[in-house]
Amino acid sequence: MTRSPRNDRPVVIAGGGIGGLACALGLAQRGFRVTVLEQAHQFGELGAGIQLGPNAFHVFDALGVGPLVKRDAVFIERLLMMDGVSGEEVISVPLDAAFRRRFGNPYAVTHRADIHRALLEGCRGLPRVELRTHAKVAGFAQEGRGVSVQLDGGERIAAAALVGADGLYSQVRSRIVGDGDPPASGHMCYRAVLAAEAMPKELRWASATLWAAPNTHIVHYPLRGWKLFNLVATVVRDRAMGGHNEEASPEEVLPLFAKNCELPMQLMRTPKAFRRWMLRFRPPVANWTQGAVTLLGDAAHPTLQYMAQGACMALEDAVCLAVAADAADGDFPAAFQRYQALRLVRTARVQLSSIMLGHLFHADGVARLVRNEIYRDRTPASYHQALEWIYRAPDYVVAANPKAKGRRKPPPARRTQPKRIRTMTARKPKRAPSKRRR
Ligand SMILES: Cc1cc2nc3c(=O)[nH]c(=O)nc-3n(C[C@H](O)[C@H](O)[C@H](O)COP(=O)(O)OP(=O)(O)OC[C@H]3O[C@@H](n4cnc5c(N)ncnc54)[C@H](O)[C@@H]3O)c2cc1C
Repeated sequence: MTRSPRNDRPVVIAGGGIGGLACALGLAQRGFRVTVLEQAHQFGELGAGIQLGPNAFHVFDALGVGPLVKRDAVFIERLLMMDGVSGEEVISVPLDAAFRRRFGNPYAVTHRADIHRALLEGCRGLPRVELRTHAKVAGFAQEGRGVSVQLDGGERIAAAALVGADGLYSQVRSRIVGDGDPPASGHMCYRAVLAAEAMPKELRWASATLWAAPNTHIVHYPLRGWKLFNLVATVVRDRAMGGHNEEASPEEVLPLFAKNCELPMQLMRTPKAFRRWMLRFRPPVANWTQGAVTLLGDAAHPTLQYMAQGACMALEDAVCLAVAADAADGDFPAAFQRYQALRLVRTARVQLSSIMLGHLFHADGVARLVRNEIYRDRTPASYHQALEWIYRAPDYVVAANPKAKGRRKPPPARRTQPKRIRTMTARKPKRAPSKRRR
C-alpha cells in the first residue's frame, strides 16, 4: 500500500451500510482516499439475522475481516426446505466438509450488526477513510472527470468519484436510472428475534430452515452462538400495502400463516410481537453507471430475499469495484464501466432467480406436490453442483485475497460468471433434519 493517497479528491460513498463500508475498506486498502456519507445519526444495522454464503466469506477474507465475522457466526449444518402443509422434508443441502472444500469457505448465519461492526472497525483502522454521519446525499453534478456531490443542507464536496451505496431508495440511482421509488413487491415480512430458551425445543435445528406453504414461507435459524433465533415469516399480499419496521401483533400475523401444520405454527405463536416490512423490488437494468458515478448493492440491483444473496452481492460488488479502480489506477469512469460489466449478469441472475424461487416456495395444490416430487431424493453432490454458480466466488474476488492459496487469475474482460453451471439431475436418499448443535 502506498503511503500518500492515490487521489487528491476523495471517492465519496453515499451510504454506510454493509455495501458502502465494504467498498470503503476495499478502496482504502488499495491506497485510495474515501469519504463515507451516512444519512443516519450513527452507523449501524437492523437488529436481525442474515445468511452468508461462502461467496460472502471470500469477500470478508479479501478485506481482512474474515476472522472477525467468523468469530460471531453460527456454522449451521444444512439448508432445509420443509413442506409447511405436510411437515415433510423437501430439500436438504448439507453444509459439510465436502461443501466447504468445494467452495473454499463455510456457510454461516450471523447478526447483521456483527458484520457491520467488523467492516466499521476495519474502516476506522485506516486513516484514508473519513466516516461522516448526519450526511445525506441529495444530488450530484459531473465536473470534468470528477463529481460535485451535494448534501442535504447545501454543502458540496468535490470528489474524484461517487459511489451510490444508498440502498433501495437511492438518491444517486434516481439521477442515473430515474425509475422512481421501488414498487412494493406484495411480499410482507414479519420479523422477530427470539431468545434461545423461547424457541420451541423441537425446532432448535442447526440449519437455516424454510417452511414453504401456499403464498407464505417461514424462515428460522440460530444466531450469536445459539443465544438467539432469527424468525422471518413472509406472506404475499396486496401490492399496495406498505410497511417499514412497524410493530405487528400476533392477531394480525397468525391467520395469514394458518395453512401451515402444527410445528411451524408453534413457532409462529411464540413472539409477542413482530416487526412488519413490505419488501420492495426492481427488475434488473442494463446500466447503473454515469461517468465517475456508479451504484452498488441494493441501489444497483435490489433483490427479493429468496436466495439470501442481497448483502452477499453488495459485498462482491465492493471488492470488484475496488479491484477495478486499482487496475485503472484511479481512472474512475473506466473503472466503473469495467466493474459494471463484470457484475451485471451475475447480479441480474440473482434478481431473476429469486423471483423464480419464490414461485417454487409458494406453490399450491398439485403444483406443490409436483415441486416436492422434483426435489425428492436428490444427492448432496447434485445440490452442491446446482449452487456452484452462486457460492463459488468470482475470480476477481478470489484474486483480491492476498492470502488465498493458488489464487485464480483475474478474468478476461468479457467473462462475467463461472463457466461451470449445471442443473440439478442426480438423486439422493432422504434424511431427517439434524438437531445436533455445533
Ligand atoms: C427480509 C430480508 C432478509 C434478507 N436476508 C438476507 C440474507 O440472508 N443474506 C443476504 O445476503 N441478504 C439478505 N437480504 C438483503 C440485504 O439485507 C440487502 O441486500 C443489503 O442489506 C443491502 O446492503 P446495501 O449496503 O446495498 O444497502 P443498505 O443496507 O440499505 O444500506 C444503505 C445505507 O445508505 C444509507 N443512505 C440511504 N440514503 C442515503 C443518502 N441519500 N445519503 C446518505 N446515506 C444514505 C442508509 O441509511 C443505509 O445505511 C435480506 C433482505 C430482507 C429484506
